[in-house]
Amino acid sequence: MTITDARTDVVAAVPKRLFIDGAWTDAASGSTFAVADPATGRELCEIADAGPDDGRRALEAAVAAQEGWAATAPRARSEILRRAHEIILARTEELALLMTLEMGKPLDQARGEVAYAAEFFRWFSEEAVRIDGGYAPTPDGANRIVVMRQPVGPCLLITPWNFPLAMGTRKIGPAVAAGCTMVLKPAPQTPLSSLALAGILAEAGLPAGVLNVVTTSDAAAVIEPLLRGGRVRKLSFTGSTQVGRILLAQCADTVVRTSMELGGNAPFIVFDDADLDVAVDGAMAAKMRNMGEACTAANRMFVHRSVADEFAARFAERMAGLTVGPGTEPGTDVGPLIDAAGRGKVEELVADAVARDAKVLTGGTTPEGSGYFYPPTVLTDVARDSALMSTEIFGPVAAITTFEDEDDVVRVANDTDWGLVGYVFTRDLDRAIRVSERLEVGMVGLNTGLVSNPAAPFGGVKQSGLGREGGRVGIEEFLEYKYLAVPVRAAK
Ligand code: ADP
Repeated sequence: MTITDARTDVVAAVPKRLFIDGAWTDAASGSTFAVADPATGRELCEIADAGPDDGRRALEAAVAAQEGWAATAPRARSEILRRAHEIILARTEELALLMTLEMGKPLDQARGEVAYAAEFFRWFSEEAVRIDGGYAPTPDGANRIVVMRQPVGPCLLITPWNFPLAMGTRKIGPAVAAGCTMVLKPAPQTPLSSLALAGILAEAGLPAGVLNVVTTSDAAAVIEPLLRGGRVRKLSFTGSTQVGRILLAQCADTVVRTSMELGGNAPFIVFDDADLDVAVDGAMAAKMRNMGEACTAANRMFVHRSVADEFAARFAERMAGLTVGPGTEPGTDVGPLIDAAGRGKVEELVADAVARDAKVLTGGTTPEGSGYFYPPTVLTDVARDSALMSTEIFGPVAAITTFEDEDDVVRVANDTDWGLVGYVFTRDLDRAIRVSERLEVGMVGLNTGLVSNPAAPFGGVKQSGLGREGGRVGIEEFLEYKYLAVPVRAAK
């Protein structure tokens, strides 16, 4: 089969409708919106465009299914996730191609995301049967405290476009495991992966109403009435800090519990005693995974003055050697950015840095032609007041600046409203621990450029968010405590 046939087939196989109460339905208004291929800018297909009434209908289905789902045996919930994990892996090629078409990442990286996404389901299938409680005497010995864990209730899950499948499974997995029902609203740029995922979960045996998927071109109009309506018990959001703040304000009115995975401005620190091979590998991973379109992407690179030239030269050589092209083409390392706005922002940030005397070691020029391509770019001598240093770049642009002193670099690294992740490269164990402890972040990559792992608690501090996803704590976000006070009287 040619890639053109395969492409047509995977897009054709996805239902282009809303998934509500176990059925595929059109939007009440009959409206649709276009999904485009960022490698060409051309339309891939049209899908249902939900309005507020569709959102309400989806939430009603989730509310109606909640009690029965909470009462479903943990083992049954676990096995649905386990089956879905297996189906996802068996369909790696189709899901990877679908993801590449709507999001742009190279097929190899899309396959990697399919495996990563599936792993969340395996992890949470294992967690579903380990929900426990507690039993303790009160200090005076008169009462017993019996603690149970219960699902928080119907959840709203809002996902971004950069990891179309994994951001869905990272939220759906723990919600299903905990016994919550949900409405998922994927990003308008990449809804197809989520619709495919809904089909897989239904095939794996997820009962009607437990997962509902609403695609819309007007998120604000659909989401706000749901959050203010008093029936959503939990919001799990991954996206920009700007939208996160709006949603937190909406949640305040009806006291909705939240998990927020917001933006980042990751410092990437290379000390003079670092193994430069390891540091350059780490920089490639931390900068170029997903074309730099990740909240964990290295955003500010601080390299000790004594190794800065060598590090920059080696890193720039590796960056210049990457092949830019459509993600579907074999050999592509760097796909297009998500859309014209995403690329325009990157262009502006580079222009601002260059205007402040940054040097361009490689890249920096937008290619001619269709698709939202931007070359791997390395800038050195980036002034610390450049917009690059205080803005989440979300593109394949590395901004390098130098430092001489450990205290200084920690201070500058922490001088940001964000605190998702930091990367530290050093062979000095004392320094590694010292700096890791002092960085104001939720995660540290120590001599590595990759921190994401379903078994680890992912999340940030400061304006990078609230709560954690994955790891042992991932399911906690979807569970409440309830305690029973039980007096135990003496025998008569
Ligand atoms: P990005 O800038 O990376 O697209 P956003 O924070 O804008 O990130 O989007 C992340 C998710 O939040 C997407 O699913 C998007 O549709 C959704 N979203 C954006 N604005 C709102 C809003 N006002 N209310 C609810 N969801 C929103």
